[in-house]
Amino acid sequence: MTAPRRVVVVGALGRMGECVRAAIADEPELVLAAALEAPGHPGIGESVAPGVVVLDDAAKALAGADVAIDFTVPAATLANLRAAADAGVAYVTGTTGFSEAERAELAAAAERIPVLHAPNFSLSVNLLAWLTRQAAARLGSAFDAEIVELHHSAKRDAPSGTALRLAEAVAEGRGGADRDELVLERAGEIGARPAGAIGVQTLRGGDCPGEHTVLFVGRGERLELIHRSATRDHFARGALQAAAWLAGRAPGLYGVEAALGLA
Ligand code: NAD
Repeated sequence: MTAPRRVVVVGALGRMGECVRAAIADEPELVLAAALEAPGHPGIGESVAPGVVVLDDAAKALAGADVAIDFTVPAATLANLRAAADAGVAYVTGTTGFSEAERAELAAAAERIPVLHAPNFSLSVNLLAWLTRQAAARLGSAFDAEIVELHHSAKRDAPSGTALRLAEAVAEGRGGADRDELVLERAGEIGARPAGAIGVQTLRGGDCPGEHTVLFVGRGERLELIHRSATRDHFARGALQAAAWLAGRAPGLYGVEAALGLA
């Protein structure tokens, strides 16, 4: 039997960080090696597992680790990713809200270490993206595509990374990936709906971990594909599966489909 992979949880005291730590405790292939938080966080120094206290020093947390699992904010992800590249530690991130320039930084780090980024680690959400691509390909331009997402009131970025991924899946199904077709808001005298538009609408409220609906609206009929998260546990389980899959691979930027067995 091989030794368990040593995992650093980045954003360890956040909503997802807490779920990831709990999931690691149930996963014999992985062990929590370190917990990293933002400098100045009141939980620095707190004990979260036998022999593991929350650190704010990335180099110290990453020393001797096999893989990091990060759910934070884009600036923190990129800073800790640079430290992981220096330390030669594989990096799984589920952070959303990256700009194009920040995505380029993810890709640059992936020339030095294996990096896996996914806006959603749920197996069934990734299946939803596949179904969306298939539906868009088969229904064609006679059906208008609209995406609606709902998340808890503390979520920082909009629309969700998953909603943008689903919009990309529609575009892929239609044979292109033209982001110019996205319509992110409507108000006032908007005129007729442009042909080929992909609407993405954002709802926020309460403690909802995430809901996504893809609507294909035709004449006299409509298809709705819906995913609802009741907890964050499935995101954490998917991230762990991705971490176990990524550790020890060659440098490169990997997608989540292969790690979840969907490729
Ligand atoms: P959160 O605010 O509860 O947690 C983020 C944590 O990161 C906080 O504890 C914060 O202190 C910490 N942090 C900030 N800067 C840091 C730094 N420099 N170093 C270390 N830690 C730092 O947020 P959340 O709800 O856990 O979500 C985090 C991210 O994950 C968001 O971008 C969210 O959209 C995304 N998310 C992705 C998935 C997925 O499946 N990919 C699922 C849920 C959430």
